[in-house]
Amino acid sequence: MPNVTDRFDVAIVGGGIAGLAVAWRAQQRGLRTVVLERDRLAGGATHVAAGMLAPISEARVGERGLLALSRASLERYPAFVAELADAAGRDPGYRPCGTLLVARDRDEAEALERELAEREAMGLPVERLLPSEARRREPALAPTLRLALDVPGDHAIDPRALSAALAVAVERAGGELRAGAQVARIATSTDQGRVTGAELDDGTRVRADQVVIAAGAWVEALDGLPAHARVPVRPVKGQIMRLRDPAGAAGVPLLARVIRMQPGYLVPRGDGRYVLGATMEEQGFDTAPTAGGIFELLRDAIELVPGVSELAIEEVAAGLRPGTPDNAPALGPGALPGLRWAAGCFRHGILLAPVVADALAATLAGEPLPDVAQPFAATRFVPERETVAP
Ligand SMILES: Cc1cc2nc3c(=O)[nH]c(=O)nc-3n(C[C@H](O)[C@H](O)[C@H](O)COP(=O)(O)OP(=O)(O)OC[C@H]3O[C@@H](n4cnc5c(N)ncnc54)[C@H](O)[C@@H]3O)c2cc1C
Repeated sequence: MPNVTDRFDVAIVGGGIAGLAVAWRAQQRGLRTVVLERDRLAGGATHVAAGMLAPISEARVGERGLLALSRASLERYPAFVAELADAAGRDPGYRPCGTLLVARDRDEAEALERELAEREAMGLPVERLLPSEARRREPALAPTLRLALDVPGDHAIDPRALSAALAVAVERAGGELRAGAQVARIATSTDQGRVTGAELDDGTRVRADQVVIAAGAWVEALDGLPAHARVPVRPVKGQIMRLRDPAGAAGVPLLARVIRMQPGYLVPRGDGRYVLGATMEEQGFDTAPTAGGIFELLRDAIELVPGVSELAIEEVAAGLRPGTPDNAPALGPGALPGLRWAAGCFRHGILLAPVVADALAATLAGEPLPDVAQPFAATRFVPERETVAP
């Protein structure tokens, strides 16, 4: 006999940033929520992410919908983290520090000029800086610097501090967190007409009226859903390093702002710790850091910020970004009643957490997917001929 545990309004598959943020907002709406995490909470992509909150630095022509979603999320961040700090009684690690985009040679400077023109055309706040002014603002930048753009509105957060605060807030709000609970399949009614819960690999059944799939890069390993109800997600590997000033928080900070190079970045945590990232590799589920990947990150960073060579190495890691076929999130109702998606946040899952949580909580409470999230409705992956139940 399968072990049937009690019934929830909402079961969330995956305890990364998406699952935890949605759980907090859902529980706040009075929905009895459980998070099912196969490993430890926030141990997936969320654990390795740098935590840049950078919609303007990452804006791309032709991705206006994603820019609107990202900016809506960034606007929510100050209130989101203030509320979270109160609810959890701990600091979620938000740093409104600004960002510099930098170029080290003529080719990169030309590329940066194009990026400036694109952002100006989109009406985004970006300032062109001569190298001398950039070095006045960030004295650790190399004298060989060719050009910089100041993006004062792009910030950063420590995803580990953020997810730890969310976990506390979920439990304090009355939600349940189950680490070590691997979901083997999504349970459906016998005619596969609706979702009824989740089944764990030990046979335990968790009944729920609604199931949110927030399983990061591992979505496709979940059984139980008919083919037309699935959202395709692939893993995109990112290698990243954590560095530390040997003088600790007492030392003179090497950098105040996030520095974005081409193609990497350095994120200061404000306490002598720095994150240097990241590669983008289509390597399946491989998460082994490689000598070549780490060499390239360090080479580029040291060329632009020579003081990086004095930092101690704390951690080398790789994580898997969840990417859909169009690299954009899949949000809200799926092809079966009761099925919800908070998936495919790819390179922006930390940035998007507040807006994704609000959008999902709205749909879990029976409201429509908010306008800003409409272009990212998970149903865009449902084959045309399938009707989507309300
Ligand atoms: C190197 C790197 C740097 C990044 N930097 C940034 C950044 O600066 N800013 C930004 O916004 N984003 C960044 N990202 C992207 C960000 O990390 C992701 O978009 C985000 O973490 C995705 O969150 P998630 O909750 O969907 O997935 P994850 O954090 O991967 O969480 C998914 C969870 O689901 C669990 N799970 C999977 N299958 C099952 C199952 N069957 N049963 C139960 N649980 C299951 C996993 O164990 C995991 O804990 C970065 C990513 C990488 C790899």
